[in-house]
Amino acid sequence: MAQTISPPVHTKAALDVELKDIVKTFGEDTAVQGLNLQIRQGEFFSILGPSGCGKTTTLRMIAGFEIPTSGELTIQGQSMNGIPAHRRSVNTVFQSYALFNHMSVWDNVAFGLKIKHIPKTDLRQRVGEALTLVQMESFSKRYPTQLSGGQKQRVALARALVNRPAVMLLDEPLGALDLKLRKQMQVELSNLHQGLGITFIMVTHDQEEALSLSDRIAVMKDGCIEQVGSPSEIYEHPATAFVADFIGDTNLLSGKLRTGSDYPLLATNSGLQVAIAPTQHTDTCDIDVSIRPEKIHLSTQVNSEPAPTYQNCFPAKVKHTLYTGPHIHCIIELTTGERLRVLQPNYIQYQPGESVYVSWLADDCQVLAD
Ligand code: ATP
Repeated sequence: MAQTISPPVHTKAALDVELKDIVKTFGEDTAVQGLNLQIRQGEFFSILGPSGCGKTTTLRMIAGFEIPTSGELTIQGQSMNGIPAHRRSVNTVFQSYALFNHMSVWDNVAFGLKIKHIPKTDLRQRVGEALTLVQMESFSKRYPTQLSGGQKQRVALARALVNRPAVMLLDEPLGALDLKLRKQMQVELSNLHQGLGITFIMVTHDQEEALSLSDRIAVMKDGCIEQVGSPSEIYEHPATAFVADFIGDTNLLSGKLRTGSDYPLLATNSGLQVAIAPTQHTDTCDIDVSIRPEKIHLSTQVNSEPAPTYQNCFPAKVKHTLYTGPHIHCIIELTTGERLRVLQPNYIQYQPGESVYVSWLADDCQVLAD
């Protein structure tokens, strides 16, 4: 979205959303268990995790729609204990848009300001600015039923932005859009965030969306944070088997650590010995490692020997191949029995049953936390 006007300016000092030991229970069930998060001013922060892990509950507590059972939540250094949703400097954009169908686009965006009795000239200017920010000024007389999904989501964004919040909360904001429009709106959301410079906190279960939009991501599981980090930290150095598996595709191998050679080794029960990245773990302890499918190199026995820089090289057979457009997913089986997923560009085609070498770098074997 083109930024043709100045973004809203915040007079308040440093913005910081902080959750300290936040717990939320519903009756017997614990939705969020002792959550600690610090979200920096101007950051695009995503909360990512599978259904039911507590993402929305966390967002709703920041918004003030749910009250934490215990712990402390602060926004811009101010405790939110006892502060109702309408007095917080946050606005939420929902997946369902939550627009009023009986009101025009203009009135939908103006609604919050009218309730606050903002003077008419100020109101007109702010609604106009918000609609310009999302490129919907020419649609101001239309009703939500006369808009496409992407246009409705733009109006929902304008309705949140018109309040000039310090923090925008986005609950699966693009979840109702088809894939192509979703990709387009991701770019627009990112541009909007960069143009405004305010904090965006987004809940999503779409890992690709989180990776492409966020400055940092918190991965949640069962009401707890598994890892917080930049997209590349989370993808390249997953801390746990859950993160490795949830973010992208991966191969997990388990075994005992053997030190003493040039590289530490993972020794599996089947007799496979894999050179791995340096680790703090002690000799002979049980470890799990993750190897991303795109890090594994395939070559045929006939045409090319594996490059000597790969510390790991094993003979294998291709079991299955799956064409997905730009890539081919191969399942290969090592002579020791392990099956690995390998991602190949679509111009390299292997046939099921073909003998191959699989190779990868020791540094591409990430040792996971216990
Ligand atoms: P999804 O991606 O499916 O929306 P989520 O990660 O956002 O999932 P939450 O909606 O935060 O998950 O729910 C976390 C847990 O809390 C779930 O087990 C859910 O059933 C429960 N829960 C959420 N809201 C309530 C409620 N109002 N009353 C009772 N249980 C609730």
